Amino acid sequence: MRQARLFTPGPTAVPAEVLEAQSRPLIHHRTPAFREALASVTDGLQTIMKTRNPVVVMAASGTGGMDAIVANITRPGDTVIVTEIGKFSERWSEIARAYGVNVVPVEAAWGTPVEPDGVEKAFASHPDAAVLLTTHSETSTGVLQDVEAFARIAHDHGALIGVDGITSIGCHLVDTDAWHLDALVGGSQKGVMIPPGLAYVAVSDAAMERMRGGRHGVYYLDLLKAIKSAQKGDTPFTPAISLVLALRRALEMMIEEGLDEVIRRHARNARAVRAAVRGMGLDLLASHPSNATTAVRIAGGRAGEVTQLMETEYGVKVAGGQAKLKGHIVRLGHIGYYNEGDMFTLITAFEDACVRLQITEKFGAGVSALQAAYAEARR
Ligand SMILES: *Cc1c(COP(=O)(O)O)cnc(C)c1O
Repeated sequence: MRQARLFTPGPTAVPAEVLEAQSRPLIHHRTPAFREALASVTDGLQTIMKTRNPVVVMAASGTGGMDAIVANITRPGDTVIVTEIGKFSERWSEIARAYGVNVVPVEAAWGTPVEPDGVEKAFASHPDAAVLLTTHSETSTGVLQDVEAFARIAHDHGALIGVDGITSIGCHLVDTDAWHLDALVGGSQKGVMIPPGLAYVAVSDAAMERMRGGRHGVYYLDLLKAIKSAQKGDTPFTPAISLVLALRRALEMMIEEGLDEVIRRHARNARAVRAAVRGMGLDLLASHPSNATTAVRIAGGRAGEVTQLMETEYGVKVAGGQAKLKGHIVRLGHIGYYNEGDMFTLITAFEDACVRLQITEKFGAGVSALQAAYAEARR
């Protein structure tokens, strides 16, 4: 059977040019050729993360980068504030607790963001909090949070902000330097269109100063050591060479398209998909939707039937819900290498599956709304 195409919010589709770059005969990493590739990757990541801060590329999945942030910018006995709005944002709390850090959660119902006011209140009642750990795009619910406002609040209270940008980098504007984000993590199998295995972390001067003043015991995840190596065009340990070469190609493609256009393309696709879902008479889960993924409510706990039919009959792989949302949502992924035509494939399969399962009634309502949304975008 033909392999299903990925429309998941990670891993995402990998362009042929990138697969080709990744499959070349291996080069050694202590060579000018690799140093040149790493320099190009660092530069490209700084462009899409909009920062002049040092960026470290690690052989780890996104969670490894989150772990590195907690290990390096918090200290034993610290209190941190965490916005908890879904599975990935809860991960910040789990990591912090694993390091013995005191966690103050600020929760919002799954499907909604934490309001800046909630963060303000948490700092007011915990003025000793050293760091705010937050999630820009919460992939489990498809919600976007206002990290620019969060950063202002954290800094007003003398705290640092650590941001999970794993499904916002390369999809939404993440204005690291203008928003003064102290630590920002991204992951390779999301917006930058390569397979899983790389995390990248950007850190501000303030974050580096805090690391130098004391942190947890670290070895592999030592960001200061990694930054020092990076400044010489090296990595402290063997890098994931082939993935770095893939990333260089992917970043070249993004920069050729232009970051603003990449973000506009994601916005257009996401808007059209949301219109299609509404056109089908279905509800979105997110009150403030991210352009990475559209979470659609499916009544009766039948989301698994939809994802299954889409995969087996249409070769379109989408994600269901996680944890308490399992069975109740379908997540239509559109972060990464997707154009208008891809969204027609996605929505046609989704709508066909929903009609066949008698979840919706009418063929064509979603596709028609998708077409209308793109026509509107072209005007
Ligand atoms: C995918 C994802 C992660 C975790 O990344 P892994 O690569 O699975 O470790 C963390 N946060 C968000 C928002 C994600 O989408």
